[in-house]
Amino acid sequence: YKAKSTLSGHHVYRSVDNRHGDVRLRTLQELRLALTEDQLILHYQPKINLTTGSVSGVEALVRWEHPDRGLLFPDQFLTLVEEAGLMHALTQEVLRKALDQSVLWAAQGRNLTVAVNLSASSLIDGDLPERVGTMLSARDLPATALMLEITEDFLMADRDRARDILTRLRASGIKISVDDFGTGYSSLAYLRDLPIDELKLDQSFVFPMADDARAAALVASTIDLAHGLGLKMVAEGVENSVAYDELVRYGCDFAQGYFMSRPISAAALDEWLTARLNAAAVP
Ligand code: C2E
Ligand code: MG
Ligand code: MG
Ligand code: MG
Repeated sequence: YKAKSTLSGHHVYRSVDNRHGDVRLRTLQELRLALTEDQLILHYQPKINLTTGSVSGVEALVRWEHPDRGLLFPDQFLTLVEEAGLMHALTQEVLRKALDQSVLWAAQGRNLTVAVNLSASSLIDGDLPERVGTMLSARDLPATALMLEITEDFLMADRDRARDILTRLRASGIKISVDDFGTGYSSLAYLRDLPIDELKLDQSFVFPMADDARAAALVASTIDLAHGLGLKMVAEGVENSVAYDELVRYGCDFAQGYFMSRPISAAALDEWLTARLNAAAVP
């Protein structure tokens, strides 16, 4: 399994890029095909409510089922998607797939909120709130079926625009999460005045928690700060029971991580949810 690192993935990709311009061009053509030939798929990672222990929702994470190279992860192709100007198309595709899946879950009686990641370039799209609204109502889904994850660079790129788009999204009932929180340049003071619902503490703060008391103290106080601002806190990258238990103790609201589940296909998620419900039913 590929180690996750957005930054290093980016650099590795770039260096390969420059030496093999023809490879890059081929990949570009393949990328366009990926969109037209339906090669992009979504995996879903459960998000656990740490207060109740129940699954509150899932995060949709895009993968590319490449015809020759196998399953590719976002770090291997998202930079290229941006450069090719295809991010808007990808976002549409991911939203469509996530909401179609949401309809299936609703029909099965599963009450899951699906979270979709938006890149900073989505800011260009002033019609996003209306388009998302149309996609929800076309499927008879409530706004609470969807959550959107933005990053700090989304917020910082154009503050007025970000505020406007978020305000309209939130007015329709869609919840907003600030992903990778703590890695960017936005201050808590700035976030206080933004129309957002939760902060998603970056995994780099969560990984060292189990072995490092100072790292754990930082997480604990960040959770308190978020709560002081009326925001929920999600921890990502929970890889073991020590981190999980500490987050519960610190009053963290939600958590995601390999300890509970990796991102998995919708079919695998269905089994995972059923197994979890059955386990909970055992006295
Ligand atoms: P993210 O939104 O911060 O997602 C969390 C990433 O951490 C995912 O990597 C997930 O598989 C991984 N992860 C989750 N739990 C753990 C854990 O316990 N340990 C470790 N080591 N990793 C964990 P993934 O799926 O490779 O996605 C990477 C990034 O790509 C995402 O980071 C997000 O920024 C971006 N991305 C993924 N799907 C989309 C999409 O549909 N649209 C856009 N714009 N970006 C996406
Ligand atoms: Mg995310
Ligand atoms: Mg993240
Ligand atoms: Mg990330």
